[in-house]
Amino acid sequence: MVIKFLDLHKQYLRMKNEIDSAISRVIATSSFVGGEEVLAFEREFSEFLGEGVKSLGVANGSDALEIAIEALNLPKNSEVLVPANTFIASAEAVIRNSLKVVFVDCGENYLMDFSDLKSKITPQTRAIVAVHLYGNALDMPTLMEIAKEYNLRVVEDCAQSHGAEFLGRKVGTFGDVATFSFYPGKNLGAYGDGGMIVSRDSRLLERCRKIAHHGGLVKYQHEIIGRNSRLDGIQAAILRVKLGYLESWNTRRREIAKMYYEGLATTSLVLPKVDSRVSCVWHLFVVRTSKRDRLKAFLESKGVQCGLHYPKALPNTLAFKDKEYVKESPTPNADVWQEEILSLPMGEHLEDGEVKRVILAVKCV
Ligand SMILES: *Cc1c(COP(=O)(O)O)cnc(C)c1O
Repeated sequence: MVIKFLDLHKQYLRMKNEIDSAISRVIATSSFVGGEEVLAFEREFSEFLGEGVKSLGVANGSDALEIAIEALNLPKNSEVLVPANTFIASAEAVIRNSLKVVFVDCGENYLMDFSDLKSKITPQTRAIVAVHLYGNALDMPTLMEIAKEYNLRVVEDCAQSHGAEFLGRKVGTFGDVATFSFYPGKNLGAYGDGGMIVSRDSRLLERCRKIAHHGGLVKYQHEIIGRNSRLDGIQAAILRVKLGYLESWNTRRREIAKMYYEGLATTSLVLPKVDSRVSCVWHLFVVRTSKRDRLKAFLESKGVQCGLHYPKALPNTLAFKDKEYVKESPTPNADVWQEEILSLPMGEHLEDGEVKRVILAVKCV
């Protein structure tokens, strides 16, 4: 029997009636783009995060980042600090705004390392893309101090960390602006693409809204050159249902993480490091070993589905590797660890018995 990395069908069956009626509700009103469900979800998501943030639904998490960075109006030739270890969307959004990416190495927790970050600040640096990777949370109070000291804007990329907290405060509420993805496999996922931009700065969020809605807040009144990036009604209605389950799913992920810590403590694997001030939502459970490829092949032969997040750190992808500016900004930890990291099955779909089977399989290698 296969132990799945992700099982969205199982999740659907547990809330089938609610999801089906949410979808029917949207079809009955034909509010396919924008409309009541989107407004209600934006409101509920803002309440979920707290701290007075407001939310704007967009088409996906990559657009959310791209639009949020555009709305910052950074000067030409600005440098933006981006972690080397993240999904490529975090860096693409910078390049697509014609700005310069400077890669920052990761520390033992795979998040951006603050001393490397500081060493890469130049007079051209204007912003930081702060990625809360794997469901973990960056030390945002410290990062905001650094940002203040060097006058940098901060965009939080929360695509993997819906509900994660640092000292009881949710990620996405610290920076100038934050973005979320509702890609189906995320902790809070739609049945298609979806994304959100959140901010306490209402003028900044209004600029995001204009950019995402063809340059205007009122139909056919185009004040600037914008684009189309909107959350659709069916996705919003589904996400409203799923938001009601998010906390319980994140709690289950924490229970599974605890089982992995206890079960794998005596192995040679390097287990994830999470700051005691963080409430982690475990989007991924990433372990490290120099025998990664052997472990992965063995687990897969035992029916345990694993993942690599990510097979290559961004500076080593074809898209970036030959760029001069990448060579000027070394990221040695990310370069080595890309060969050693392995994502074990993680998600609320897993039964205790399945987690135990994963642990047993790891111990057999
Ligand atoms: C998934 C993800 C994104 C992009 O979100 P999409 O909705 O797939 O466009 C951005 N950043 C990170 C860290 C992600 O994991």
